[in-house]
Amino acid sequence: MDIVEWSRWESETVRGRAKGEIGMDATNDRAAWFQGGEAVCSVTPEARSRAFRLVLLGPPGVGKGTQAELLCKSLGTCHLSTGDVFRAASCQHDPSPALRSALDAMRRGELVSDGLVVTMVEERSGCLGCCGGFLLDGFPRTVSQAEALDDLLVRQGVSLDAVLSYELPLPEIVDRLSGRRTCSKCKAVYHVTARPPHKEGICDLCAGSLIQREDDRPESIRVRMQAYEESTRPLADYYERSGRLVAVTADGAPEDILERSLRELQARATLARH
Ligand code: AMP
Repeated sequence: MDIVEWSRWESETVRGRAKGEIGMDATNDRAAWFQGGEAVCSVTPEARSRAFRLVLLGPPGVGKGTQAELLCKSLGTCHLSTGDVFRAASCQHDPSPALRSALDAMRRGELVSDGLVVTMVEERSGCLGCCGGFLLDGFPRTVSQAEALDDLLVRQGVSLDAVLSYELPLPEIVDRLSGRRTCSKCKAVYHVTARPPHKEGICDLCAGSLIQREDDRPESIRVRMQAYEESTRPLADYYERSGRLVAVTADGAPEDILERSLRELQARATLARH
């Protein structure tokens, strides 16, 4: 996008944000992502002059989920989280053997195998070609998944605009994770001190009860951080080599981090023009 298009997009976005118009309808059930196959979303995304296709990277607890939510509201993209798909599937009464082994790995705080995750995303690859754009959160997590994603994008005839990599020191990550609470119904994310719900233990959006995710417990956190260091770090190198990586400092209020992310995207668009 050149700077003229960017300015037009930005002024629409700022106006829309002020009027509360920009962003996917809050009632969109993202059925195509959650169910895969032929499932159709309850709200068809608008075709946009500028659809954003982004990946979010960062260790657990860095605030990716919150930024994903805010970015999606600002940019009108859909939030596609592989972790959300697995958590939703864990409610199924009779999961397939493949899904059962994926859920077992998740409960142990381990990564699900590349083969299973890529197959799961492939079954939902229509979401990658969606005219509303997308924001992938939690996928890819390994270089092999990133290569598979590049293939899927080529098949959909689209490409990534940027990979936003959120960075934060370890002690702050631990603090954020241990206080995180997730809605058992709509999966909205809170924090006991930094982002508390209006009523303790109850989701502001759907009145569901707030729980601590199994993989946010201390024993799982340690395994997840180790898995992150071993498997996911090389992803930054992969995307840096292809010029798609955009590093964002993840400290401060979520709205400040959002503004920082949007500024980074703008700077990237400006650079691309020169
Ligand atoms: P998240 O909500 O992204 O932290 O994901 C929760 C859990 O789902 C992870 O700890 C993994 O067990 C599993 N998972 C989600 N996405 C992936 C992925 N791309 N590769 C492997 N495992 C994943």
